Amino acid sequence: ATLPARLGGIPRRWAERAPQAPALHDGARHWSYAELTTAIDETAALLRALEVRPGDRLMVVGENCAAQVALIFAAADIDAWIVNVNGRLSAREVDQILDHSGARRVIYLAAPGDGSALPTASPESAAHGQRHGAVPAPSPFGTWMVGALNAHCAPEPVHADPAQQVAALIYTTGTTGQPKGVMLTHRNLLFIAAVSSTLRGLTPTDRAYGVLPITHVYGLASVMLGTLYAGACLYLCPRFAPDAVLKAIRDDGLTILQGVPAMYARLLEQLGGATEPLASRLRFIYAGGSPLAPSLKAQVQQLFGLPLHNGYGMTETSPTISQTRLDQPRDDASVGQVIPGVEVRLVDAGGDDVAPGEGGELWVRGPNIMAGYYREPELTAAAMRDGGWLNTGDVARQDADGALFIVGRTKELIIRSGFNVYPLEVETVLNAHPAVTQSAVVGRNAADGNEEVVAFVEIDPRHRVTPEELQQYLAGLLSPYKCPSEIIEMQALPAAATGKILKGQLRQLAQK
Ligand code: ATP
Ligand code: MG
Repeated sequence: ATLPARLGGIPRRWAERAPQAPALHDGARHWSYAELTTAIDETAALLRALEVRPGDRLMVVGENCAAQVALIFAAADIDAWIVNVNGRLSAREVDQILDHSGARRVIYLAAPGDGSALPTASPESAAHGQRHGAVPAPSPFGTWMVGALNAHCAPEPVHADPAQQVAALIYTTGTTGQPKGVMLTHRNLLFIAAVSSTLRGLTPTDRAYGVLPITHVYGLASVMLGTLYAGACLYLCPRFAPDAVLKAIRDDGLTILQGVPAMYARLLEQLGGATEPLASRLRFIYAGGSPLAPSLKAQVQQLFGLPLHNGYGMTETSPTISQTRLDQPRDDASVGQVIPGVEVRLVDAGGDDVAPGEGGELWVRGPNIMAGYYREPELTAAAMRDGGWLNTGDVARQDADGALFIVGRTKELIIRSGFNVYPLEVETVLNAHPAVTQSAVVGRNAADGNEEVVAFVEIDPRHRVTPEELQQYLAGLLSPYKCPSEIIEMQALPAAATGKILKGQLRQLAQK
């Protein structure tokens, strides 16, 4: 099937083919494709009345809900850029994004399903809205808080080809530095919607769980758009909670579950080591977004009685670069084959292709590559080369079947006494310890100009293990220079709304 020009073509196509088919379900009610399309049209009219113009940035603060879905399509319909911000961010973080994006308007969404009079999703966003003069306004989804008009917002030029118009401005996790604003076009997002739908073998009878935040590109393109592309139904969950996920799997007949490794680790913890496979209608489970430890993968596969598929990507690639194929599940640490339509190169420090099987810096080209970093021409030039190649900043190798393995990130490389240590390798070994729920390894600058390896670990409350015992365990499995100088236990590692560990914070902690 040909791709529509704009995002809105996805629900409209199904509103014609199967108007009564369920598109969204938020736990309380569902919206058919016809109802969703009507809500999008009404929302677009409301945005125009709020003086949101083509080329303006529209910021939406909230957590997964039907209104957020409608706002994404409505903004895209009027050529505005959607800037989705998670309602759990602090007011300071929201401010940074507001300043950087120069949004014309901010809309604060009500917490879905809580039924209370509280008009905003969290105390943080309520405080933020108050400071930005937000007032209640009627919407197709109840009352929204709408911030004052930013008269200084200058619209960006609108692309003559709607497919190349920016649809979403999405901020990266900030693992290696300040989050960067990634400009993704309609074509970027539609391409990934089609690929994710195909590679998951989705049909209109599928029910996919939307527990990943659609404020991030994985939840937006792969889960939300991918599901609607197939005419299937998206079950919206505002935030991850293990018991809510287990209940939805049991009661809602979910067939598709996509998450991040940390989410699966929490599910296992919640079940307290149950070995009986869960009874469910799930037919496809998937983890992506951060490294999936083989030990975790094995436990999840046992729990669900299904292969756990794995995929790799980044915000700049909308996000998918590779994914394991439905008919070729793998038991190793591979992140799968490069998706159709996308090319990769593995290069050495001199920019030459590495020998087959060797590790190299991964470059990507294809219809999923971003238009650039917003307001960061230097960063954009540093990451992108002529001919459409993007440097991922990840080191990978590829086996004879073309399957990719991630070795680590160039920016995270720790050089200890002249030896290279990729944190990922140490984390993988730590995560395989039965008592370790999650771990994160960072470098610490030592006085002599050298770097030390520091590990942060989260321990499963059902186990007891001391840092000394973990040191001994690592010493049996890793070369001495890879073993951490210090292992620090934390109740919970700092994480983004997507579940990704915020390593920037840990690097600062390690330094002290
Ligand atoms: P920033 O770019 O701001 O430092 P970030 O790179 O963590 O933050 P994202 O775009 O959310 O922001 O994450 C992309 C990165 O996540 C990839 O470059 C890669 O390092 C890592 N990653 C994603 N999926 C996987 C996976 N399946 N296995 C290993 N690493 C992964
Ligand atoms: Mg990155």
